[in-house]
Amino acid sequence: MFSLKQWNQSPEWQNWVGYETAQPQQKLSPSSVTELQEIIKKARADKQRIRVTGAAHSFSGCAKPEEIAVSLHHMRGLISVDKDAKLATLYAGTYLYEIGDALKEYGLALENMGDVQAQTLAGAVSTATHGTGITLGSIANQVEVWEWVDGCGEIHTHHRGDPETDELGDALHASLGMLGVFTKLTLRVVELYGLKEDNQLLDFEEGLECFYETAYSHRHLEWFLFPGTNKIQQKTLTMIAPVPMTAKQKRRDKFDSIVTLNGAFYLLCELARIKPSLTKKVSAISASAIPNTKREGYSYEVFPTPRGVKFNESEYFIKLADFDECISEINHILLADNKGSHFPIEVRTHKGERGMLSPTQGEDCAVLSFHVYKGMDSEPLFMWLYEYMKKWHGRPHWGKVNKLSNAELQMLYPKLDRFLEIRRQYDPDNVFINSWLNEKFSIL
Ligand SMILES: Cc1cc2nc3c(=O)[nH]c(=O)nc-3n(C[C@H](O)[C@H](O)[C@H](O)COP(=O)(O)OP(=O)(O)OC[C@H]3O[C@@H](n4cnc5c(N)ncnc54)[C@H](O)[C@@H]3O)c2cc1C
Repeated sequence: MFSLKQWNQSPEWQNWVGYETAQPQQKLSPSSVTELQEIIKKARADKQRIRVTGAAHSFSGCAKPEEIAVSLHHMRGLISVDKDAKLATLYAGTYLYEIGDALKEYGLALENMGDVQAQTLAGAVSTATHGTGITLGSIANQVEVWEWVDGCGEIHTHHRGDPETDELGDALHASLGMLGVFTKLTLRVVELYGLKEDNQLLDFEEGLECFYETAYSHRHLEWFLFPGTNKIQQKTLTMIAPVPMTAKQKRRDKFDSIVTLNGAFYLLCELARIKPSLTKKVSAISASAIPNTKREGYSYEVFPTPRGVKFNESEYFIKLADFDECISEINHILLADNKGSHFPIEVRTHKGERGMLSPTQGEDCAVLSFHVYKGMDSEPLFMWLYEYMKKWHGRPHWGKVNKLSNAELQMLYPKLDRFLEIRRQYDPDNVFINSWLNEKFSIL
């Protein structure tokens, strides 16, 4: 969880895993839009650069504040709800874990969520953070109205328009804070619902045979493929009536997070770190320990799962139609050489959506995430992945490690130049650009 005290006290900013660091000259946390506008106007006049940082949960350098770091920690909370239209307006700095309870009061909920909820709403929207579900898109796709302050300190509001003509909406989707600082976001929400989670350990072939059928017959399907073992954990979430999670289940989640993940899994990870030749064995032990867990509760209680140990992550979107061939080849390659990683590969599905920088580029996708335990060298796996994903025209998650060059990104995102033209209108003096954004988008 983000701690403002820690953020203020430490001269260094670092991301969740600790690999992206910066020493900003100033750390500012405005309490109002007017205060934020003044900060931006002054930075522009002083030719200084700003990065708004959310909960620092991006693995890439997209949030790295090299000169002025701004946190919207004081600009949080639910502002209004239109129950009939199913719209909820929130301050952009609200943490995702604050949204579930607030919406429940109105019988409403977020349509979908990822597997943790420590992120800020604006941070999650800016990188198109997603969960899983063949009929469901990212949190960026749930935004109906954006309010933001641009690089000149001017405030703007944009309502999502006709999909055929809403160019600005397409640019705002997954915009990495390059058009300005979001201050309020109105989300399209759904009626409060519950979820039931089921887990099964399957042989790879068994899981693949029923992958599409399971994906279409459940609201959410997620796989964890244990590298080098030919085993997958298949997790499904089914919609049920909204019921709160029992106290017993909450205790069990806490136990899992403290004992199983921080204890047993941590020791296995350390073993793999100290003796990398054991990674395959560690992967096999982890696979064999998958419990036949059933969890139930409000959706926002079931989506997040305990994350005990820290890791680095790289993630690619590929066409759903390519999934069988791609994942079979990956499984085969990793059976022979697991590239030094014992962490399961996470597989999710994602509905195609608009957005100039949407990694789906309008196509239904399978999303593959690769993790490496903190302290172990992620280069062998991530370099291999970068090369391998070219074959599938894999597009990276903006918040995760990617090694693609500007030229490669241009090929994958045909509207990138148009996005950058729109960006220039809102930030003519590049107040919001850091070195990572410049490396990826060749702006300065
Ligand atoms: C343990 C873990 C689990 C994760 N699980 C998932 C998952 O299930 N699904 C998934 O898709 N991703 C996942 N991620 C990635 C994460 O959701 C994204 O990287 C997300 O952007 C992080 O949000 P944040 O609030 O920490 O933003 P940051 O990482 O701090 O910032 C992300 C970007 O948003 C910009 N930004 C922040 N606030 C604003 C604002 N007010 N206005 C404009 N721009 C702003 C920043 O400048 C930066 O470019 C996970 C990450 C971790 C560490």
